[in-house]
Amino acid sequence: MYFRLAKRVLTETDPRLVWKLAWNMGVKGALSVFRHKSRLKRGEFYPPFLYVSVINSCNLRCQGCWVDVGHKQATIDVAAMDRLIHESKQMGNSFFGILGGEPFMHPELLQIFERHPDCYFQVFTNGQLITEDVARALRKFGNVTPLVSVEGTEIISDERRGRLQVWSKTMEGLHHCLKHKVLTGVCTSVCKTNIDDLVTNAWVDRLIEMGVFYMWYHTYRPVGPDPHPEMSLTPEQQRRVRQFVVDTRATKPIIVVDAYYDHAGQALCPAATGFTHHVGPWGDIEPCPIIQFAKESIYDERPLRETFQNSEFLRDFRQLAARSTRGCIVLEAPDALKTLVDKHSARDSTARQTAAAELEAMIPRPSQFDPGHEIPERSWAYWLAKKLVFNDFGAYNGIVHNPPPKPPVATEATVAS
Ligand code: SF4
Repeated sequence: MYFRLAKRVLTETDPRLVWKLAWNMGVKGALSVFRHKSRLKRGEFYPPFLYVSVINSCNLRCQGCWVDVGHKQATIDVAAMDRLIHESKQMGNSFFGILGGEPFMHPELLQIFERHPDCYFQVFTNGQLITEDVARALRKFGNVTPLVSVEGTEIISDERRGRLQVWSKTMEGLHHCLKHKVLTGVCTSVCKTNIDDLVTNAWVDRLIEMGVFYMWYHTYRPVGPDPHPEMSLTPEQQRRVRQFVVDTRATKPIIVVDAYYDHAGQALCPAATGFTHHVGPWGDIEPCPIIQFAKESIYDERPLRETFQNSEFLRDFRQLAARSTRGCIVLEAPDALKTLVDKHSARDSTARQTAAAELEAMIPRPSQFDPGHEIPERSWAYWLAKKLVFNDFGAYNGIVHNPPPKPPVATEATVAS
């Protein structure tokens, strides 16, 4: 498997792009994590990986989306991104996750990538705006990997994403990337309507055949103004996805990313461990993309280093999240999160201004924390990589967690849908 993967990397893409990935993301990304660990030991804090939603607008209308895609457009412009990236580089960071809305609707997105050749950007996109010219530019820069989201078969994609011909337009963007040898990934937010189609060997084989280099299975989280809880996976289905990921990593020549388990298969929350936090389209600094509350902003006068170091809201969040569960506090203990938001008088960082009511309406449900059912990595490469650079960084040390809540009992509404 390792030989087949190495052969793909050497023969199916541009060596310059592989080098950029290995250096900017691999070596410098790992060093940024080691610096993060040293900072933690000194009682300091700055997340090594930042996720930035650079725009709120989107050309699709997905079920369960928590971003205010229909509101007046807000973007983080080149100057603000320059400042954020420069200050993060000074802290040793080199990786930035770029989200939206749809990032490729941002009029200056390519400029941002071009201005920072020493960084690496992963763009979460529906792929539909990646034309041949955009793909050519991405190849020229070499420091960008598009992560194209595919949410189901042709029919399911249209239903999940609220438009017609979503699948074919997304596939067109994906083909443009692959034609220009851009290192490209495919991600899926796994839910009840796509698990049987996309968490399968046939789908993985098809992606390999197309030339896709990596995959990422997220778990669907019922949040936002229209949460669709009926689409959430059961604990058994989450276990099935985890097992599939572990097996695929050990057997198929494709990289599979995940953000919710350590090398031993123990659940973790990357925001609770301080691995990452999120910047929203209005510049608000939030614990993670689905927690739309903030006390600080990238537009605050002081340096970002001081903002992260001194944020009592983010510090309390990390401690509360780690104390509450190894899984996702939003899903398992929304009431505790609401209390934290109230205690800090954190502002609602959405345009719709209903985030507090949405949080209040949430019913606790299980997340990735599944004690007694941990599935450790089978692949030594992933085992080692996670052991070294992706673990809980001591966030859960000495904490005994209660078992997660049971799935809510199906109501007539959930059964009907
Ligand atoms: S709070 Fe939940 S959604 Fe946010 S990073 Fe943690 S596990 Fe993920």
